[in-house]
Amino acid sequence: MTGQVQGKVALVTGGASGIGEAVSELLAREGTSVAVTDVDDLRGPEVVARIKKAGGEASFWHHDVTSEERWIEVVAEVMKRYGRLDVLVSNAGIGISVPSITEMSLSDWRRQTAINLDGVFLSVKHCLPVMRKTGGGSVIMMSSLAGLRGAAGLSGYCATKGGVRLFAKAIAMECATFGDGIRVNSVHPGIIDTPIWGKIPTEAAGAGQNAPIDPEERAKVATPLGRAGHAEEIAQGVLYLASDASRYVTGTELVIDGGMFAGGIARR
Ligand code: NAD
Repeated sequence: MTGQVQGKVALVTGGASGIGEAVSELLAREGTSVAVTDVDDLRGPEVVARIKKAGGEASFWHHDVTSEERWIEVVAEVMKRYGRLDVLVSNAGIGISVPSITEMSLSDWRRQTAINLDGVFLSVKHCLPVMRKTGGGSVIMMSSLAGLRGAAGLSGYCATKGGVRLFAKAIAMECATFGDGIRVNSVHPGIIDTPIWGKIPTEAAGAGQNAPIDPEERAKVATPLGRAGHAEEIAQGVLYLASDASRYVTGTELVIDGGMFAGGIARR
């Protein structure tokens, strides 16, 4: 344990699976009380039970990040239970892939934008006021490598994640101007072996047209380090941004991608 986030309170959206689950578990192991929120009412409580079994502190809230009404309720309940909020990890997201943007339905475009972008907007709208009251903290927004460069088939996803990247910078400037002690950064994972990859084809308009994506297979050829990343490796970056070790870091982007953005393709 580093002790750098001990005693803090964090809210992690999409905390029931993949990266959010790993972030919740790591922050809890490091002594942070974690509000795990998600629409998944099966896995969410399981994550909390595991954290508690390991001696950590966490609670689960059913929470659709696109619902402003629910944001108001969840933030109030987290404040009632823990009395403060130091770390917001705005992580919930989905990916919708289509062979061509011409096949993207407006309803899928809007659903992806609602979760990936509206959800992040609502997170800061409702968490910044309470973080300001309790002395500041750290906001971490989960973008993607797809928020830094284009990806065929994922143009709608790229639009949302590119939006998250610049939104983080703008809110960082706003908080710096307020002098409220809140830092804001974005995290950009490459290919990480989480359940999201299995969900992409079924969530696509025209589901069944795409073969399911195996992140390991894709990462082997697309990633200089030659493998997919693990959720825990993203969680380590989030821990750094959540902790006081990053107290001079705001408005920046942490790329954790096995070297993909650096431009290289593995020579294998
Ligand atoms: P995941 O599917 O394992 O987890 C996403 C979680 O978000 C799930 O528990 C899901 O129930 C939840 N969620 C979905 N819609 C929601 C909603 N409306 N409200 C609240 N929760 C909702 O995926 P993951 O790979 O852990 O993805 C986490 C974040 O990381 C996402 O924003 C994703 O875009 C981003 N990301 C993932 C990868 C990757 O390769 N896995 C790469 C880059 C970025």
